[in-house]
Amino acid sequence: MIKPGRMKYIVAGLVLLMALKCQSQSLWEMANEKRELLRISTLLTAQNVRDYLSKEKGINESIEWCKKTGVTHVFLESFRGGYTVGRKTLGHAKSRFEKEGFEVSGCITTTRVGKISTGWGNVGCYTDRKTCENLQKIFEYAASIFDEIMIDDFLFTNCECDECQVGRGGKSWPDYRCPLMIKVSTERILKPVKAVNPAAKIIIKYPQWYDNFHNRGYEVLQQTADYDKIWVGTETRDYDDKRWGGKVQYEAYYIMRWLGGIGGLKTGGGWFDPLGTTEDTYVEQARQTVLADAKEMLLFCYGALMRNTGPANVRKLRAEIPGLFELAGLVRNKPIKGIHAPKPPNSDAYDEQYVFDFVGMLGLPLVPVAEISTDAEAAFFSVHALKEPDLSSKLEKMLDAGKPLLITDGLAERLSNINTDAENLTVLKVNGNPRSLLKLSRRQLNPIRNRLLAPFGIRFDAPNKVALYLIGEQCLVVENFNDEPVDISLEFSKPVKARKTLVLPPERDVELSWSRGKLKFTKITPRTLVAVEY
Ligand SMILES: [Zn+2]
Repeated sequence: MIKPGRMKYIVAGLVLLMALKCQSQSLWEMANEKRELLRISTLLTAQNVRDYLSKEKGINESIEWCKKTGVTHVFLESFRGGYTVGRKTLGHAKSRFEKEGFEVSGCITTTRVGKISTGWGNVGCYTDRKTCENLQKIFEYAASIFDEIMIDDFLFTNCECDECQVGRGGKSWPDYRCPLMIKVSTERILKPVKAVNPAAKIIIKYPQWYDNFHNRGYEVLQQTADYDKIWVGTETRDYDDKRWGGKVQYEAYYIMRWLGGIGGLKTGGGWFDPLGTTEDTYVEQARQTVLADAKEMLLFCYGALMRNTGPANVRKLRAEIPGLFELAGLVRNKPIKGIHAPKPPNSDAYDEQYVFDFVGMLGLPLVPVAEISTDAEAAFFSVHALKEPDLSSKLEKMLDAGKPLLITDGLAERLSNINTDAENLTVLKVNGNPRSLLKLSRRQLNPIRNRLLAPFGIRFDAPNKVALYLIGEQCLVVENFNDEPVDISLEFSKPVKARKTLVLPPERDVELSWSRGKLKFTKITPRTLVAVEY
């Protein structure tokens, strides 16, 4: 029999042992265990393959780095910027990674393929026949080595050369470029690839600039139907960075959810990079990608993560990876609740470019969708919605049903027959400058939120740049993107019990308390995410 006094030592010992066991599980083991929930991948660009994987030492180092980072899937690129990696190097690297238990796929970046576009980005002029022939050869080569090939987000054109001008005739650029790129995709990529390797699957990775897809030839409905899988650019970087800035964190969430809805089961993962980031903004990309239900996150790219802010970013990410797996578990297979926020595919943004991203930063939990549904309980409409021919009657139907609607001033101006005096209609003053929304004060925001969130039985009191996400019926997430601590509160129309289930970064703590029917979060530290189950 154990003496009562000893029992506590035994219990303490067991607890310590369990804690040690948890700690000792390496990220590599954990990532392998969780790979069906969330996979972590990286890309070695063609130049990275040349520089790091041509010798055994480099291969060993990259394998070790991947294992330490929980990376279980590696993309080895065969072509980028006019450079092609030799078959021997690619084949050897592929087999080495496979032997170590990695999944290995290919990748192609279609820059400097042939005739260069007159626009930016070293992309091609696909009106030019020779460029298309080169493109086909690049894909045939990759298909002879890999069973899965990702296409980085340069498969577009912004060329306005004489040949393109003649080609488009009287059409607008989007009307010329979208069919052109659809044809290039099927005739020069998909068909030739399947002829070389019938098992090969091709992933089209869409850039983050969703408001300009159609302008440069990405047609997300047809191309998603044509390709085997899609991937999503979630590289928001740092809003304040001089070179790479201007994108808010919520963009990664909006685009990942929006394309996830279009792609359905074809949706692979999100892709972000360390360019112009700090450790904080780097991991915010990972959190938004995972919150948006990505099944995989790709860390672009091995070479970039070796220099500048890369190593510090990766250290911070590694510490968050166990929490990111938990976050993936919280969102998987759960419908999100909130404010219907449609962007019809190929819709023009006018002067409301990426307004959804900024509205999300206001603490309005959006449900990004491609189609307008009048069944939604609350909705946000911007000028993008003008793409919908039945817009006026749909808005009227929702207003008559008493649903709270938020519409931009730009949309209100363009709709002649809408009753802007309706009690359940709020006009959001964007003034043709979505960034200006970040200046709205807590006092200005609270009534807007409370009106829009009424159908969900929630009131939300918070400053700007604190995002709210309603996951399923019993989970919500708040994330503070400010550089200062914030106090916020949530009020529920029904009595609920709430418990904190996750905080990121993991070393932070957030105090939850109840006061007069309000759930208060005291001093949410800067750049911190909190998940609550209720
Ligand atoms: Zn051209």
